[in-house]
Amino acid sequence: MTSVCLLATEVAPLSKTGGLADVAGALTKYLHGAGHDVRLFTPFYDTIDRSRLELYRVDFLQDQSLTVGPHHYIYSVWTARLPGSNAFLYLIECPPLFARGTIYTTDADEHLRYLAFTRAAIECCQVMGWAPDIVHCNDWHTAFAPLLLQNLYAWDHLFDDTRTVLTIHNIGYQGTFPATAIGDLALGLGEHLIHQDDLRRGVINPLKHGIMYADAVTTVSPTYAREITTSEYGMGMQEALRFRGDAVSGILNGVDYDDWDPRHDKHLPLHYDSQNLAAKFELKKQLFARLGLTAGPHTALMGSISRMVQQKGFDLMFESLPYVLDSRDAAFVILGSGEPRYERFFEQLQRQFPDRVSFQHGYNESLSHWIEAASDIFLMPSLYEPCGLNQMYSLRYGTVPIVRRTGGLADSVQMFDPATGVGTGILFEPFEPSALLWAMNTALDLYAQPQHWNTLVQNGMQQDFSWQQQGAKYVALYEAL
Ligand code: ADP
Repeated sequence: MTSVCLLATEVAPLSKTGGLADVAGALTKYLHGAGHDVRLFTPFYDTIDRSRLELYRVDFLQDQSLTVGPHHYIYSVWTARLPGSNAFLYLIECPPLFARGTIYTTDADEHLRYLAFTRAAIECCQVMGWAPDIVHCNDWHTAFAPLLLQNLYAWDHLFDDTRTVLTIHNIGYQGTFPATAIGDLALGLGEHLIHQDDLRRGVINPLKHGIMYADAVTTVSPTYAREITTSEYGMGMQEALRFRGDAVSGILNGVDYDDWDPRHDKHLPLHYDSQNLAAKFELKKQLFARLGLTAGPHTALMGSISRMVQQKGFDLMFESLPYVLDSRDAAFVILGSGEPRYERFFEQLQRQFPDRVSFQHGYNESLSHWIEAASDIFLMPSLYEPCGLNQMYSLRYGTVPIVRRTGGLADSVQMFDPATGVGTGILFEPFEPSALLWAMNTALDLYAQPQHWNTLVQNGMQQDFSWQQQGAKYVALYEAL
């Protein structure tokens, strides 16, 4: 049994802006289920719906005083079971820091909010007299934990055998703040441990210090772990990562098949499995009707669900998608919102092909399940993708993913070869419209050949990206440390 102190600034279903929340929740659930002593610390934001939790005050962790450099805070700790699990959460309540109406802010003290959170979590371990085998921090927000343990808290022998892991969920976010705030770190004589070139440039980069000082650094897919050591994908972290050599590895995120399985999806009125796909066909007809599309049921439906940002590769669709819709028997449904240039493009596309294109603006959990189930093809042409979840959902739903060969997409989808019948999707490599065009045409050609298509769909539905597989890899890493 390993004891793991997990630090996460968001956790599904309480507080979620992205993949970190899903991993924090699912990994906690997995570790607890596998018999490990996992305690997940997370900020008690005012946005968390308290009525969903059975909350208990931790008696001996009330009104604790915390000093972070020149700043003083009082915090209290609540505990509750993670919904869907018996694992315990520790919620750090400190209204001046976490009652701001949103999870993340652009306030000047953003670095301080999470430095205080990290320190409060460490000090809770001290008060509990709990010596975790592993402190597992996530993204820039808690990335100072390894350095703090090695320096500020080095006097406390409680942590002598504690090892640290940093997981990077998206290297694009690094939490950089001005070097004038160095006093907030309270390192005293340990200030030489801060990245000196950055200091001279006037900045402190929390993520970089996690990379420098964690015993192991992971990211959310093996391919992304390699990519971020290059200048093309590393966003300035490549040198620090290369310096760590074998300490950097990739573990693909798992999928929560309790939520995402067409055999029992609670958002769908009909269910199906790989032996009986009639309901999938029926769901497509119903979705067309619901969205007011008049395409016939044999028209290939391409789906997409995404934040509309450059990372997701929408630029490649500007030329290729109208061309495909013009020349092939295909329909397109997209759910999401984001940058105006992409939203304008999809609005225009909908006007151009009113019978076959639907742009659903906003965030809609239920509709996202419908699109996964009803589509024949899923488009995910990302510029970069640390892991990506929708391509893995697509596989389980018998929806053939078209992905760019990058990050977690490359690790979860295998190119289909009609000659051997091996493979689960269509991959393309160059970040060019013509490459996506080729991929869409290849998929549509296969769709027109039911024998091949059925093999491809069946192969995908058999894939298993459950946390049972992926969680065990974290445990192996913990044990190795
Ligand atoms: P990222 O974390 O970069 O946004 P992922 O594919 O890893 O991309 O995860 C995105 C998650 O958010 C998926 O579960 C996806 O279904 C969901 N999602 C994204 N946009 C929407 C939306 N508009 N409505 C519903 N769910 C969405």
